[in-house]
Amino acid sequence: MTILNVYRSKSALVYTLIFIKRHLITFRKFRQLYTEFWFPSPSRPPYNHICQIGDPVLRYKAEELNAEDIKKNEIQGVRKRISALTVSFGYRDVTEKIYEEFSPEIRKSREMAIIPFKVFINPELKITNYEKVCFPEACESVRGFSADVPRYREVLVTGLSAEGKPVSWQVSGWAARIVQHEMDHLSGRLYTDIMVRSTFTCTCWDKVNRTGGRIYVPFSPK
Ligand SMILES: [Zn+2]
Repeated sequence: MTILNVYRSKSALVYTLIFIKRHLITFRKFRQLYTEFWFPSPSRPPYNHICQIGDPVLRYKAEELNAEDIKKNEIQGVRKRISALTVSFGYRDVTEKIYEEFSPEIRKSREMAIIPFKVFINPELKITNYEKVCFPEACESVRGFSADVPRYREVLVTGLSAEGKPVSWQVSGWAARIVQHEMDHLSGRLYTDIMVRSTFTCTCWDKVNRTGGRIYVPFSPK
């Protein structure tokens, strides 16, 4: 290989790297333009996606529904969504997935159990055991974080079913904490309002270290 060829191959490598770098930046710009093209301006509630902390909609207090509202298709459709504003419930498949992530010891200490699908319209909460327990909690509207949150051990939730009939549910442990979490949403409160602040944690902090900070934290796990 002549000196000229070495020089040329080095130049080719440099130009290739510059080409890749330029196109990577272009790709980022393209992705930004593409996103702005399809989602040009903020949409308005009600949303089909889960809003994130900072969105004023999460601070609104839910209004009570009257009997006529309950029959509307819109409300019946809400039963199929998570974190709806006017109803409060546990989702069996969601709670089952979370439940299986924990060891039997943790499940026992946190009084965890799989929670059946529940719908409460105009729910009201009554504390039936004022003892407080403090366990880690996360929220779909505070994605990527968790913190210890003190909650009452046992509560009674009453309200109307999706068909408009009175229903009640006496719960303790994990289910009671979920009910309090969801009831807080209806009042425009988030767990960050009452969390033990020093325990606020990024759920992938260790991955950040393992990758030297070169990590893309997806907004959605899907
Ligand atoms: Zn939440």
